[in-house]
Order: sequence, then structure tokens, then C-alpha cells
Amino acid sequence: MGVTGAGRATLVAVTDRCQGCGACLLTCPEHAIRPHGRPLLVLPALCTGCGECIEVCPVDAIEEAP
Ligand code: SF4
Ligand code: SF4
Repeated sequence: MGVTGAGRATLVAVTDRCQGCGACLLTCPEHAIRPHGRPLLVLPALCTGCGECIEVCPVDAIEEAP
């Protein structure tokens, strides 16, 4: 995934399997996932890589970034 202006790579990636249910938005303790159409946008500066969004997604649309 991309690298931001802050120089941090994203830790998780929302794939195009995302159905837009919003569960990950509500679960992320860092509020790092933002509505941005589909797939959603993960803000690298906020994401800690905790993996809670991966666990909560009902369609396994979120993956650890390579
Ligand atoms: S939980 Fe999964 S399907 Fe739902 S909005 Fe997040 S990435 Fe998309
Ligand atoms: S890994 Fe954790 S901090 Fe990063 S987007 Fe998912 S729930 Fe939020």
C-alpha cells in the first residue's frame, strides 16, 4: 500500500470485497478508518495495526498490508 506524506506505510488495507457496512468504522479504537466510498480509507498516521477491524469485518475485506 501507499506511503503517506508522514512517511508511514499503511498497516492494513481495505480490499474491494468491502460491502460498506461500517462495522470497522465503529470498531476502530483510533478512528483511523474513514468513509471514502468503497473500499474505505485507512489513515496510516492513526492506525496502530491492532487488527480489530480485520476481526470484525463480516466479509474478510480487510487484510494486513504486505
Ligand atoms: S467491516 Fe468490512 S465490509 Fe464493513 S465497511 Fe468495514 S471493510 Fe467494509
Ligand atoms: S488495525 Fe486497528 S487501528 Fe488500524 S484501522 Fe484496524 S482497527 Fe483501526
